[in-house]
Amino acid sequence: MSTNPDCLFCKISSGAIPVDLVMETETAIAFRDIDPKAPTHVLVIPKDHFADVTELTQSNPNLAGELLSLAADVAKLQGLDSGYRIVTNTGEDAGQSVPHVHFHILGGRSLSWPPG
Ligand code: AMP
Repeated sequence: MSTNPDCLFCKISSGAIPVDLVMETETAIAFRDIDPKAPTHVLVIPKDHFADVTELTQSNPNLAGELLSLAADVAKLQGLDSGYRIVTNTGEDAGQSVPHVHFHILGGRSLSWPPG
C-alpha cells in the first residue's frame, strides 16, 4: 500500500478525515463531494496514492479499469439512469486541485457540453 501522509485523499481513504461514504472495495472508495457541482456528485479514488490519471494508468492499468467499473456501479446505485458524466481533471490547465487521482461522477440534472 503506497500512501502519502501529506495527501488529503490519502487521509480520507485511511479514515483519518470523515466523509459521506457511498461505496467501498478492497482497492477504492466512493464518497460525496464536499462542494457538489450537480445534485449527485460522487468522487471515486484509489486507496493507494497516484498523483493523476497519467501516473495511475502507467503504474497500474488494471486498477484504472477497476475505478471506472466502480464509477459505473456508483451511477447505477445512485439511480442516474437518464445519464451521468465521469470527469478526471489532470494538471493545472484542467484545474486539478487535489493531487491524488479521482473520478468525479456527476448527474441528476442535464449537464452542459462542452464544459467550458
Ligand atoms: P479537482 O478540483 O478535480 O481536483 O477535484 C477535487 C474535488 O475534491 C473538489 O470537487 C472538492 O470539492 C473535493 N473535495 C475537497 N475536499 C474534500 C473533502 N474533505 N471531502 C469531499 N470532497 C472534497
